[in-house]
Amino acid sequence: MNNPKSSILIIYTGGTIGMKTDAVTGALVPFDFSGIYDEFPSLKRLNVDIDVHTTSPVIDSSNVAPDHWVALAELIRANYALYDGFVVLHGTDTMSYTASALSFMLENLSKPVVFTGSQIPIGVLRTDGRENLITAIEIAGTKIDGRPAVPEVSLYFQNRLFRANRTTKRSAEALNAFRSYNYPPLAEVGVNIAYNLSAVLRPSDTSPELRVASKLADGVAIVKLFPGMSEGVLRAMLAAPGLRAVVLETFGAGNAPTSEWFIRTLQEAIGRGVIVLNITQCGGGKVSMALYETGLRLQKAGVLCGYDMTTEAAVTKLMYVLGLGLSAESTRALLRRPLRGEFTV
Ligand code: ASP
Repeated sequence: MNNPKSSILIIYTGGTIGMKTDAVTGALVPFDFSGIYDEFPSLKRLNVDIDVHTTSPVIDSSNVAPDHWVALAELIRANYALYDGFVVLHGTDTMSYTASALSFMLENLSKPVVFTGSQIPIGVLRTDGRENLITAIEIAGTKIDGRPAVPEVSLYFQNRLFRANRTTKRSAEALNAFRSYNYPPLAEVGVNIAYNLSAVLRPSDTSPELRVASKLADGVAIVKLFPGMSEGVLRAMLAAPGLRAVVLETFGAGNAPTSEWFIRTLQEAIGRGVIVLNITQCGGGKVSMALYETGLRLQKAGVLCGYDMTTEAAVTKLMYVLGLGLSAESTRALLRRPLRGEFTV
């Protein structure tokens, strides 16, 4: 027996995917997603009903800010009961930030939210957007034994579906622009879509209703270490007004200089209540602060371990957790454990 049709809401926010070549002038002009069936009649063959919402204004994703994440999360909440799944079309440049943020903000999510975009505009002959869009829609609408196949925030790009908060844009050129270095794909797409169901997060049967965390804290900074970083520069960064948390991008397995001034400067910031979260500059692998003296000193100074989290997940998790307005102790407790599968201990 066929599964009943799924209903999908496509939310178009901007980015390269939404452009096409004007037949007369040859210039790139916005693509009108409300005419999606006229443009891609083959979509009618998918077992889904599609509605389209275009955010206003549509933006290049370099202009995305936390306010956009809140608006997007609220839009999903407002339509949550009406649809079986959501496809968010987004510029690729900051897609991993937005998708990671949404993974934290959409508490108790039990329906698919699939982000995608493209490197070549959808209205250009050689586009990668057509396949990305069609497969993202199919994935968002797929049910297995009556339940959504992937009820989490994911990102689909060039034949792979990833957990969104594990992704990072790794190429400004390649069509397989995204990587998930530390977590396997949730699905691989060839002739068929092969779901890796054991890797997918599932809400418990008793999960409460969807809630949107709509307060995101500011005061988060990224400090990327490099040999030769001076005390003055580090001090100035950690003395920034309003600073509440730092994602410290360290070397290798979470290592940093052992110089007195370095550790002291971090300790002083931590003493002022600044959270310091250690992640590695390497794409693959994780922080393990007990491995070397250089990491152990950070641990003793009160630096938290970010394991194998991406920068995108670390930044947005800090914004989310600090936005909850909890005590210092509860805040640190939430940072120590994975909330949406964003790291592996
Ligand atoms: N600058 C574009 C954006 O991120 C690039 C893209 O969509 O691929 O909005």
